[in-house]
Amino acid sequence: MGDENVRIPRSTVPGIVSPAIPGRMASLLLSVLYQFDQTQWLDPEELFRHQARQLGALLKHAATTVPFYQRRFAEAGIDPDAEVTRETLARIPPLRRAELQGAGEDINTTALPKSHGKIHQVETSGSTGRPVRLNATEINSVFWRACVMREHLWQGRDLTGKLAAIRWVRKGVAMPPDGVRGDSWGPASGAIYPTGPAVLLNIASELEAQVEWLLREDPDFLISFPSNLTALANYCVERGLRPSKLKQVMTVGETVTEKVRKACADAWGVPVKDSYSCEETGYLTIQCPDYDVYHVQSENVLLEVIGDDGRACGPGEVGRVLITSLHNFATPLIRYELGDYAEVGGPCACGRGLPVIKQVLGRKRNRLILPDGRSEFPYLGEHEEFRAITTKVKSFQYIQRSVTLIEKLMVVTEPLTPDEEAAQKALIVKNFGHPFEVKLTYLDAIPKRGAGKFEEFISEVDV
Ligand SMILES: [Zn+2]
Repeated sequence: MGDENVRIPRSTVPGIVSPAIPGRMASLLLSVLYQFDQTQWLDPEELFRHQARQLGALLKHAATTVPFYQRRFAEAGIDPDAEVTRETLARIPPLRRAELQGAGEDINTTALPKSHGKIHQVETSGSTGRPVRLNATEINSVFWRACVMREHLWQGRDLTGKLAAIRWVRKGVAMPPDGVRGDSWGPASGAIYPTGPAVLLNIASELEAQVEWLLREDPDFLISFPSNLTALANYCVERGLRPSKLKQVMTVGETVTEKVRKACADAWGVPVKDSYSCEETGYLTIQCPDYDVYHVQSENVLLEVIGDDGRACGPGEVGRVLITSLHNFATPLIRYELGDYAEVGGPCACGRGLPVIKQVLGRKRNRLILPDGRSEFPYLGEHEEFRAITTKVKSFQYIQRSVTLIEKLMVVTEPLTPDEEAAQKALIVKNFGHPFEVKLTYLDAIPKRGAGKFEEFISEVDV
């Protein structure tokens, strides 16, 4: 191993430089990463035995301190004191999003062990527009950060480089031409190591402004949504533009198709390294360092892929993703149905025993097509803005029917008044930033499309 691969953590003891004595969070993360380094090579059955022991502790905790699971386990005939097997797990009914949303305080623990740290609230945007709320602990944050760091290590990123992100942020924040900048990559890597700078641009920026920013910042690493990256790469390839230092593209939030990988390779000659996470439980999978498949982060989450008959899918089969957050003792999520679909893969040639997912389906958020043919990432607005007009909307979906017409499908408790409708339309036009005609349609349910989950925005415009 050459010098370039040796990273010395930041030391917190004066005069002690190497080896370092890291601070509390860094020490925690490094101790978890040390274990990750070993567990990744365990064979799948041995990995499951580790998970089963952790699950046993989680089930016992849920059965004694979480009313929702007390009932659920009793109904399913689960003995929380018995050894957890795959059969035990299969008897627990999947937890649907609507159940989690409707459970209220019943699904939170009444007695969180003090050593799990402070509770923080997690609120997801929710793919049908209605957010999911749950609690998580400091322990969850430690595992989240450890997975972030593991990804950097797996993908061999030089942390002293510059990291650029083009991501979803509130309207008006991190706008072009300058975006915003920080002197660290973030609370995971930055807690342990000195890192290079990080720069951020709002994904709602127009493509031309994004490219101009990208060339000026000239980062080593770029992270964004696949649909945005495809558009960026195509724009660059047409004009022969390339950020000179770019080494790797990182993706989040949507399915990475061959098209995205090819676009980034053609435009910039760099590989795409993807990961799959959710706000509810953090990291689910990370792309293998050596192959274009994904390894489940089994130390953080138990991920199941099940068919319509409820049985586990085998290699080559596509099924629904169920996740069990192994360490969240505040709001236990046990067999939570995420709404995504995944294809199971066979053993990976890299030798890691972490289970393989070939691809994740149903994570697509289309781009808004403008009348002049340009496209951008649509800004859908903040929940609070819409709630200020009316709280009658239970769920929604936008469909761009043409370059001039946006239709908003809504499931409501009662129809909106003419004033509320007018205010909604005005807000939608303001958020999209273009004078689209807006049509409001009331439905009993938002129809599901294909195998994917509900999407907040879909464009039907062919480009
Ligand atoms: Zn692998």
